[in-house]
Amino acid sequence: MKKLMAANWKMYKTADEARQTADALVKAVGTLPGDREVLIFPPFTALHAAHDALGQAAGFHMGGQDVYPAEEGAFTGEIAPGMLKAAGCGWVLTGHSERRHVLGETDALVGSKTAFSLAAGLSVCLCIGEKLDEREAGALTTVIHRQLETGLADVPADVDPGRLAIAYEPVWAIGTGKVAGPAEILEAHAIVRAKLCAMFPSAGTDMPILYGGSVKPDNAAEIVGLDNVDGVLVGGASLQADSFSRIVLA
Ligand code: PEP
Repeated sequence: MKKLMAANWKMYKTADEARQTADALVKAVGTLPGDREVLIFPPFTALHAAHDALGQAAGFHMGGQDVYPAEEGAFTGEIAPGMLKAAGCGWVLTGHSERRHVLGETDALVGSKTAFSLAAGLSVCLCIGEKLDEREAGALTTVIHRQLETGLADVPADVDPGRLAIAYEPVWAIGTGKVAGPAEILEAHAIVRAKLCAMFPSAGTDMPILYGGSVKPDNAAEIVGLDNVDGVLVGGASLQADSFSRIVLA
């Protein structure tokens, strides 16, 4: 399985800034190694510019940071899967912890976004992960199981595993500089893998599981080398082409 190296630009970068960063990233990475793929999630207003800059660069893909589960309609401020596809997106993030815990998205809404986007032809990266108080209360497995059960409830059993990635991102490690240690990542990814295999007996082994949470150029190689880690989802360290290119090539 290729390693999926994903960049979440969150609410950073105007269209011009995104164009410059995407352009610089393609140049800094050069020819992408055959075992890597790059996935960029710019803000909505920068999708066209980033898509232009990525051009035909082999192995570089783009996605939206969020989506609304309807084809169109009276949903002010929201974005439909078809709009993302028309802007050059092949992917979408669902359930990012900032959507869950800052914007108040429920597990059920995340599940509906995930299933609707897959049915609409987008590939989906579903983000899950426990908060610090949940981990300290011993609820790691319970939280992972609940978020996968609800987040994937309406995904068909014969889903193409190449179109559904899970990003395990412990909330206490996102944007905090506190990276989960190898043992914590191995434990959580094994729980995710076992649950995916139980829910999707034929596809579960081949769904990529990414780690996210304070990934940097100096810890990326160790993290992507761990069992059941099929890539990374990077926030802060993906905003500069120089640092993200070093992660991509780590
Ligand atoms: C993220 O936004 O998904 C993320 C993991 O952020 P950071 O790398 O900054 O912790």
